[in-house]
Amino acid sequence: MYLVRPFDPWRSPLCTCPAKYVLHPYTGCGHGCLYCYASSYVRDFFNPRPKEGFVRKLLRDLERLPIGSLVELSTSSDPYTPPEERLSVTRWALSELLERGFRVLVTTKSALVLRDIDVLLRYRDRVAVAITITTLDAGTAAVLEPGAPTPAERLKAVRKLSSSGVPTLVRVDPIVPYVNDDPSAVEELVEQVSRAGAVQVTSSTYKARPDSLSRLLKALPEVAPKIVEAYRSGERVGGYTYLDRRTRYEYMRTVRGAAIRAGLAFHTCREGFPELATRGFSCDGSSLVGRGGSVAKV
Ligand code: SF4
Repeated sequence: MYLVRPFDPWRSPLCTCPAKYVLHPYTGCGHGCLYCYASSYVRDFFNPRPKEGFVRKLLRDLERLPIGSLVELSTSSDPYTPPEERLSVTRWALSELLERGFRVLVTTKSALVLRDIDVLLRYRDRVAVAITITTLDAGTAAVLEPGAPTPAERLKAVRKLSSSGVPTLVRVDPIVPYVNDDPSAVEELVEQVSRAGAVQVTSSTYKARPDSLSRLLKALPEVAPKIVEAYRSGERVGGYTYLDRRTRYEYMRTVRGAAIRAGLAFHTCREGFPELATRGFSCDGSSLVGRGGSVAKV
């Protein structure tokens, strides 16, 4: 079984990601996000553990990978999940990939990525970092993402990376109705993200799966009936229940408006509104790789 594999968007017909490889140093993730999609597919997901035989298998895989390929760390777990602080498996993989000439997109919601800023800076012309911030409100984040660093810590990471010349994208992802969808809060979040130096915002709405929906409803009883109602009139896409198209469009238009006012590029993730995307930018941040220190605000 290969560790570095072509990205598989789980058959989503709305995925707009360019071709890339993905690498997951860990199985599972300790950030415990209520809305996590990956927990539907992986046993014991919230108990992160490094991949068995990771070093040996990665070294083997890198021998067959065309030099210069884009590898994302990671798409269905967080490369800076809590055990990484102790184990440094991701740090080792990041260094190997970059030393061997690959391009790397890091996607995380952990400020622990700053520990590896020395590696990122050494290869800043071949890296980009996407950091997820769903809300500035620490209380809401503690409910939604109980094992993840606070929004303030994540913003600090965006600031440090950006000011050091590492191109940075922020994922406002997902918007959950009645939880983090307040337009003025979204405006403030995007404004802060821009001030921190990010060049792009990518956003999406929450897509319900039975396990993540049940976690959300249990943790947020005060808005649970409204969430249920919102998804009752939704549509099925690729195994998920989406909000209805008009509601999703309004949410994405709100985030886009805030992004454009703040001078940021914008993209959606698996929403199907190509007209909202800023030309020349990809949804996932791939297009920022290779533009270290030279990405102009839009
Ligand atoms: S950080 Fe990502 S992979 Fe980890 S629990 Fe949250 S959504 Fe899932």
